[in-house]
Amino acid sequence: MIKNTLNQGFRTYWLSALHNDAKTANGNKLRNYRLYKTSFHKEKYLEHNDFERRQNLGRLRLSCHKLLIETGRHVRLCERLAPEDRLCQYCSAQVCEDELHFIMLCPNYTILRKKLLDNIHSQYQFLSDYSTEECYLWIMSSNETFVTNELSEFVLRTSGQPPSGAQYPITVGWTGVTAPQVGFKPMSVEKCGW
Ligand SMILES: [Zn+2]
Repeated sequence: MIKNTLNQGFRTYWLSALHNDAKTANGNKLRNYRLYKTSFHKEKYLEHNDFERRQNLGRLRLSCHKLLIETGRHVRLCERLAPEDRLCQYCSAQVCEDELHFIMLCPNYTILRKKLLDNIHSQYQFLSDYSTEECYLWIMSSNETFVTNELSEFVLRTSGQPPSGAQYPITVGWTGVTAPQVGFKPMSVEKCGW
Protein backbone atom coordinates (compact mmCIF):
# COMPACT_ATOMS: atom_id res chain seq x y z
CA MET A 1 0.00 0.00 0.00
CA ILE A 2 2.70 2.48 1.07
CA LYS A 3 4.92 1.29 -1.76
CA ASN A 4 2.12 1.86 -4.29
CA THR A 5 1.46 5.34 -2.94
CA LEU A 6 5.14 6.28 -3.14
CA ASN A 7 5.35 4.80 -6.61
CA GLN A 8 2.37 6.78 -7.82
CA GLY A 9 3.71 9.94 -6.19
CA PHE A 10 7.01 9.58 -7.98
CA ARG A 11 5.33 9.00 -11.34
CA THR A 12 3.22 12.10 -10.87
CA TYR A 13 6.31 14.13 -9.97
CA TRP A 14 8.25 12.71 -12.94
CA LEU A 15 5.49 13.62 -15.39
CA SER A 16 5.13 17.08 -13.88
CA ALA A 17 8.90 17.75 -14.10
CA LEU A 18 8.98 16.55 -17.70
CA HIS A 19 6.34 19.11 -18.64
CA ASN A 20 7.64 21.95 -16.52
CA ASP A 21 8.70 24.82 -18.81
CA ALA A 22 9.06 27.38 -16.06
CA LYS A 23 12.73 26.81 -15.23
CA THR A 24 14.27 28.56 -18.25
CA ALA A 25 13.21 31.17 -20.77
CA ASN A 26 13.08 28.68 -23.64
CA GLY A 27 11.37 25.98 -21.65
CA ASN A 28 12.33 22.42 -20.89
CA LYS A 29 14.97 20.96 -23.23
CA LEU A 30 13.10 17.66 -23.08
CA ARG A 31 10.32 19.18 -25.18
CA ASN A 32 10.98 16.53 -27.82
CA TYR A 33 11.34 13.60 -25.43
CA ARG A 34 8.03 14.22 -23.74
CA LEU A 35 6.20 13.94 -27.07
CA TYR A 36 6.82 10.20 -27.14
CA LYS A 37 7.72 9.39 -23.53
CA THR A 38 4.36 9.48 -21.88
CA SER A 39 4.77 7.01 -19.06
CA PHE A 40 7.53 5.91 -16.71
CA HIS A 41 8.73 2.51 -17.84
CA LYS A 42 11.87 0.81 -19.10
CA GLU A 43 12.33 1.08 -22.85
CA LYS A 44 12.96 -2.07 -24.82
CA TYR A 45 15.95 -0.63 -26.69
CA LEU A 46 17.88 -0.55 -23.39
CA GLU A 47 18.04 -4.35 -23.60
CA HIS A 48 19.92 -4.24 -26.89
CA ASN A 49 23.21 -6.14 -26.71
CA ASP A 50 25.14 -3.53 -28.67
CA PHE A 51 26.28 -0.77 -26.31
CA GLU A 52 26.90 1.77 -29.06
CA ARG A 53 23.39 1.36 -30.43
CA ARG A 54 21.86 1.70 -26.99
CA GLN A 55 23.95 4.76 -26.32
CA ASN A 56 23.12 6.44 -29.64
CA LEU A 57 19.41 5.89 -29.26
CA GLY A 58 19.46 7.12 -25.68
CA ARG A 59 21.28 10.29 -26.66
CA LEU A 60 18.98 10.90 -29.59
CA ARG A 61 15.90 10.50 -27.44
CA LEU A 62 17.24 12.71 -24.65
CA SER A 63 18.57 15.46 -26.94
CA CYS A 64 22.14 14.74 -25.92
CA HIS A 65 23.63 15.28 -29.37
CA LYS A 66 24.99 18.02 -31.59
CA LEU A 67 21.96 19.01 -33.58
CA LEU A 68 21.53 22.77 -33.33
CA ILE A 69 18.40 22.49 -31.23
CA GLU A 70 20.79 21.31 -28.51
CA THR A 71 24.12 23.01 -29.28
CA GLY A 72 22.22 26.30 -29.63
CA ARG A 73 21.87 26.15 -25.85
CA HIS A 74 25.62 26.03 -25.32
CA VAL A 75 26.28 29.73 -25.66
CA ARG A 76 25.97 32.68 -23.33
CA LEU A 77 22.39 33.46 -22.44
CA CYS A 78 22.48 36.84 -24.22
CA GLU A 79 23.51 35.10 -27.48
CA ARG A 80 21.08 32.22 -27.23
CA LEU A 81 18.54 31.96 -30.02
CA ALA A 82 15.02 30.76 -29.48
CA PRO A 83 14.70 27.06 -30.39
CA GLU A 84 12.77 27.83 -33.58
CA ASP A 85 15.61 30.08 -34.77
CA ARG A 86 18.37 27.42 -34.51
CA LEU A 87 18.19 26.78 -38.24
CA CYS A 88 19.62 23.77 -40.00
CA GLN A 89 22.88 24.64 -41.75
CA TYR A 90 22.66 21.74 -44.17
CA CYS A 91 19.63 22.71 -46.19
CA SER A 92 17.63 25.72 -47.27
CA ALA A 93 14.46 24.79 -45.42
CA GLN A 94 15.00 27.56 -42.86
CA VAL A 95 13.71 25.39 -40.06
CA CYS A 96 15.12 24.37 -36.73
CA GLU A 97 17.61 21.51 -36.84
CA ASP A 98 15.80 19.34 -34.34
CA GLU A 99 15.23 15.62 -34.09
CA LEU A 100 12.17 15.65 -36.35
CA HIS A 101 14.05 17.53 -39.06
CA PHE A 102 17.06 15.24 -38.73
CA ILE A 103 15.17 11.96 -38.90
CA MET A 104 12.32 12.77 -41.24
CA LEU A 105 12.99 15.87 -43.32
CA CYS A 106 16.50 17.19 -43.86
CA PRO A 107 17.51 16.51 -47.49
CA ASN A 108 21.09 16.01 -46.31
CA TYR A 109 20.16 12.53 -45.10
CA THR A 110 17.74 11.57 -47.87
CA ILE A 111 19.56 8.43 -49.00
CA LEU A 112 20.02 7.03 -45.51
CA ARG A 113 16.49 7.99 -44.57
CA LYS A 114 15.01 6.19 -47.56
CA LYS A 115 16.48 2.92 -46.32
CA LEU A 116 15.17 3.57 -42.80
CA LEU A 117 11.64 4.43 -43.88
CA ASP A 118 11.39 1.83 -46.64
CA ASN A 119 12.35 -0.93 -44.22
CA ILE A 120 9.96 0.25 -41.52
CA HIS A 121 7.07 0.83 -43.95
CA SER A 122 7.52 -2.64 -45.40
CA GLN A 123 6.75 -4.10 -41.98
CA TYR A 124 4.19 -1.54 -40.80
CA GLN A 125 2.24 -0.58 -43.89
CA PHE A 126 -0.40 1.40 -41.98
CA LEU A 127 2.26 4.11 -41.58
CA SER A 128 1.64 5.19 -45.15
CA ASP A 129 -1.57 6.81 -43.85
CA TYR A 130 0.36 8.77 -41.21
CA SER A 131 1.60 12.32 -41.57
CA THR A 132 5.34 12.95 -41.29
CA GLU A 133 4.98 14.08 -37.68
CA GLU A 134 2.79 11.10 -36.78
CA CYS A 135 5.25 8.71 -38.39
CA TYR A 136 8.12 10.32 -36.49
CA LEU A 137 6.33 9.98 -33.17
CA TRP A 138 5.39 6.40 -33.90
CA ILE A 139 9.00 5.50 -34.68
CA MET A 140 10.37 7.29 -31.64
CA SER A 141 7.85 5.72 -29.30
CA SER A 142 8.05 2.23 -30.75
CA ASN A 143 9.22 -0.58 -28.54
CA GLU A 144 9.49 -2.95 -31.49
CA THR A 145 13.02 -4.33 -31.73
CA PHE A 146 12.88 -4.15 -35.52
CA VAL A 147 12.11 -0.43 -35.40
CA THR A 148 14.72 0.46 -32.78
CA ASN A 149 17.31 -1.53 -34.72
CA GLU A 150 16.51 0.35 -37.92
CA LEU A 151 16.58 3.70 -36.15
CA SER A 152 19.88 2.97 -34.43
CA GLU A 153 21.31 1.91 -37.80
CA PHE A 154 20.28 5.27 -39.27
CA VAL A 155 21.83 7.15 -36.37
CA LEU A 156 25.05 5.15 -36.56
CA ARG A 157 25.41 5.82 -40.27
CA THR A 158 24.67 9.53 -40.03
CA SER A 159 27.11 10.04 -37.17
CA GLY A 160 30.01 8.59 -39.12
CA GLN A 161 29.61 10.18 -42.52
CA PRO A 162 30.29 13.69 -43.74
CA PRO A 163 27.12 15.20 -45.16
CA SER A 164 26.74 15.03 -48.89
CA GLY A 165 28.30 18.09 -50.49
CA ALA A 166 29.82 19.31 -47.25
CA GLN A 167 33.03 21.30 -47.68
CA TYR A 168 34.45 20.61 -44.29
CA PRO A 169 34.50 17.01 -43.19
CA ILE A 170 36.60 17.15 -40.06
CA THR A 171 37.82 14.65 -37.54
CA VAL A 172 35.95 15.43 -34.38
CA GLY A 173 33.56 13.95 -31.97
CA TRP A 174 33.51 11.21 -29.45
CA THR A 175 33.61 8.53 -32.14
CA GLY A 176 36.97 9.74 -33.42
CA VAL A 177 35.83 9.28 -37.00
CA THR A 178 35.25 11.79 -39.74
CA ALA A 179 31.96 13.37 -38.99
CA PRO A 180 29.95 16.36 -40.09
CA GLN A 181 30.69 19.57 -38.23
CA VAL A 182 27.05 19.87 -37.47
CA GLY A 183 24.63 17.00 -37.54
CA PHE A 184 24.05 14.08 -35.33
CA LYS A 185 27.09 13.69 -33.12
CA PRO A 186 26.26 12.46 -29.66
CA MET A 187 28.00 14.50 -27.03
CA SER A 188 29.78 13.31 -23.96
CA VAL A 189 27.62 12.19 -21.10
CA GLU A 190 28.76 14.95 -18.77
CA LYS A 191 27.21 17.54 -21.07
CA CYS A 192 23.82 15.93 -20.89
CA GLY A 193 21.32 17.47 -18.56
CA TRP A 194 18.49 19.86 -18.31
ZN1 LIG B 1 18.27 20.46 -42.95
